[in-house]
Amino acid sequence: MPMNRQILLDNRPQGEATADNFRLVTTETPALRDGQVLVRHHYLSLDPYMRGRMNEGKSYAQPQPLDQVMLGGTVGEVVESRHPKYAPGDKVQGMGGWQEYSVVDADQPGALRKVDTTHVPLSHYLGAVGMPGVTAWYGLVKIIAPKAGQTVVVSAASGAVGSAVGVLAKARGARAVGVAGGPDKCRYVTDELGFDACVDYKQHKDANSLSKALKEACPDGIDGYFENVGGMVLDAVMLRANAFARIAMCGMIAGYNGEPIPMAYPQLILTNRMRIEGFIVSEHMEVWPEALNELGVLVGTGKLRPRESVAQGLDAAPEAFLGLLKGRNFGKQLVKLV
Ligand code: NDP
Repeated sequence: MPMNRQILLDNRPQGEATADNFRLVTTETPALRDGQVLVRHHYLSLDPYMRGRMNEGKSYAQPQPLDQVMLGGTVGEVVESRHPKYAPGDKVQGMGGWQEYSVVDADQPGALRKVDTTHVPLSHYLGAVGMPGVTAWYGLVKIIAPKAGQTVVVSAASGAVGSAVGVLAKARGARAVGVAGGPDKCRYVTDELGFDACVDYKQHKDANSLSKALKEACPDGIDGYFENVGGMVLDAVMLRANAFARIAMCGMIAGYNGEPIPMAYPQLILTNRMRIEGFIVSEHMEVWPEALNELGVLVGTGKLRPRESVAQGLDAAPEAFLGLLKGRNFGKQLVKLV
């Protein structure tokens, strides 16, 4: 069996996470028992929710135990199998974590899924045609539920979740407007993803200024907002919300280090009769097949062209993860191992 390099959570962050919170180790891979397969990971997924899991207290995911492999999504190839349904060479998606190989009990529900790479590249199963894509689908379709002609705004618009939100909104005849950090990200959002407009929030010092820019991008106001960041962006959107606007509360990355991110205008929820609903994608497994089907078609037909930031090698995972929390990624953040 191959030697396996792994990244463990060594200690919990105080405030901002740092590279010292992680530890790299090399271990022996145990021999397979009946029902198990050995997977060689080609890509690891790095996701903002991992920051919440690094804390002791309850976040929207359970805490990551200390001295154990950082949990996370992976795609790779079966290299050895003692399970009748899997053979060497099969491409699979699972939750292998920050390590080069994993031994998987393949009968465990949700542990492993074969994926078809004929029309969709393997890495996209961690992004647009994976958990982030389904997250976009759930918040947009089930919470915002835009009608044709309505305006949907999404923050972190160039990211794994945000990019899919806009394309799904356009497919429903809505006006899609992104909020993203920097001119390159905004250009990608409009030119490659086909959003109607994108506002660079980094050009604005406060919510009032950002809100003026949103007024130009959303001349008919905002009917749906897909929230990924919180803070000033949320305040600016609230100021432009129409009556009966819906907000899908997906992520609040601006507050993941524990800092307070107060909402400036909660009274607008009342005066605009708004509905704000938080959700966790893993609690809605019933929508995954329908969502993955639509997302697979959008990617396969080139209507959704996801962008990826790819760090090379396991050692690069901690820095790439810290960069993701600061917006240094451009699109889905991955680590390439093979
Ligand atoms: P992204 O690919 O969008 O990467 C994160 C992006 O957030 C960065 O690129 C950056 O974009 C933006 N960002 C980072 N820090 C800040 C900050 N302080 N203020 C404002 N923006 C910031 O990540 P994902 O697409 O994977 O995730 C998007 C959101 O969805 C996250 O909040 C995540 O936690 C949430 N999520 C929730 C799920 C659920 O079930 N509820 C499931 C999956 C994801 P920019 O440069 O444009 O600012």
